[in-house]
Amino acid sequence: MPVSDSPRFDFHCHSRASDGDLTPAELVARALERGVEYLALTDHDTLAGLAEARAAAADRLTLVPGIELSVRWQTRELHLVGLAFDPDHAGLQALVAAQQDARVLRARSMGRRLDKVAGLANTYERVVARSGQDAPGRPWFAALLVDEGRARDMQHAFNRFLRPGQSAFVATPWVLLEDGIRVIREAGGVAVLAHPLRYGMTRRKLRQLLTDFAAAGGQALEVLTPGVTEPQRQLLDECLRDFGLLASGGSDFHSPRQKWLDLGQVPPPAPAMTPVWRAFAPPWQMA
Ligand code: AMP
Ligand code: MN
Ligand code: MN
Ligand code: MN
Repeated sequence: MPVSDSPRFDFHCHSRASDGDLTPAELVARALERGVEYLALTDHDTLAGLAEARAAAADRLTLVPGIELSVRWQTRELHLVGLAFDPDHAGLQALVAAQQDARVLRARSMGRRLDKVAGLANTYERVVARSGQDAPGRPWFAALLVDEGRARDMQHAFNRFLRPGQSAFVATPWVLLEDGIRVIREAGGVAVLAHPLRYGMTRRKLRQLLTDFAAAGGQALEVLTPGVTEPQRQLLDECLRDFGLLASGGSDFHSPRQKWLDLGQVPPPAPAMTPVWRAFAPPWQMA
């Protein structure tokens, strides 16, 4: 079989600036070891890791600006990846600041709830200390719950306390899907719906979402991910075609402890797909 002539890319991963285990510099070093040529660091609702990642990348790989925004659509929380935008864009920076404010309030509220329902003390302060940030996401709370013996593992901590419907889940006024898309595009970037199969939606619901996503200016769907089964691949192909979307992809790497996936573990786009980088504006144009 011929070796794919697709560039080696990974447009979805996390550092310690959100809920990853590696610093931005360590993440870039790992990407280089694994032959990644184009990397987007997509931390949750923050641009804080980009400068360190860019410095570590220097001219050894192309660090494409990225972010994973938490957004609201109907009654759900979804994830919107933005790629190849201008990180200095004022409107985008204002949105990120608002998302961070919402994250701080949410984290404090989760802390108060866990103080009560998990019988812990000063949960928020302890999670701030272990994460080194004032707006820690749920995985940091899950890790504390595991260490304190309130959950067997991260998954159990989510199921028992942190996922929607559980006692420490805090509904949060994230930016609306359409506003997130608009701001990413105003900043010159490309709006990608992250991991479409991870929302537990029926095919019908997913198509409803993609109708709204495309109407709001959403351009790409994250279909190039590890572990997609054949029926899932067919559904994703159908979605790309029916909604005229570009194909993006990434590992969603968070930690070397995730033994089943690694940075850069991203299948190349199939010949029938249009890769997301076709929509990248200068200076982020790729082959
Ligand atoms: P947050 O940004 O605070 O809403 O946290 C979302 C993050 O938690 C996701 O990006 C995943 O990294 C992680 N996560 C979500 N659901 C689970 C789960 N069931 N088990 C383990 N980690 C999860
Ligand atoms: Mn995460
Ligand atoms: Mn996500
Ligand atoms: Mn992610």
